[in-house]
Amino acid sequence: MTCKCGSKRIISVNGKTSDMCQVRYAELDVSGYVPKLAGIDTPKDGYGDYVQYSFCADCGQMRGKFPLSDTAIRNALGEMGRPNNFLEVNQMTCIVQFPTKKAFKERVMSDPGRVYIEDPSIFQPRYFHAVDMAVWQREVVTNHPKRSWFAQITRTATGFKVE
Ligand SMILES: [Zn+2]
Repeated sequence: MTCKCGSKRIISVNGKTSDMCQVRYAELDVSGYVPKLAGIDTPKDGYGDYVQYSFCADCGQMRGKFPLSDTAIRNALGEMGRPNNFLEVNQMTCIVQFPTKKAFKERVMSDPGRVYIEDPSIFQPRYFHAVDMAVWQREVVTNHPKRSWFAQITRTATGFKVE
């Protein structure tokens, strides 16, 4: 192997972490299988157990295809497992003002800053917009006052999931 700088002094690392790999990126902190990302794992290995990377002992350049897009990193981390900073599902069903689940979902996807969510808990009431939810926060919501539909909204690493 030769580095782009011309050096042949390449250090290769192969460490087995299996599902004990921890990776942090932006607001994410995830433990689980090794993400399929250049710099952490060589994508030709299909198992996600090994941290495999090589770098140049002269210039320090890591081998692999860069840059990595924000989406690629988030998708890879999303496949690792449950984030360490996952917020537990709240027990209270929250209240939103949408006539149908479809209308709720459409607004979440198009303009989460205009989706107002209210947790009617007597002890710990919360008021927030969907856009303010932390990544991996999950809430169950219903319309008020009819309760004719229910939905679960989850803030994912790349956006929102409504189911
Ligand atoms: Zn080099």
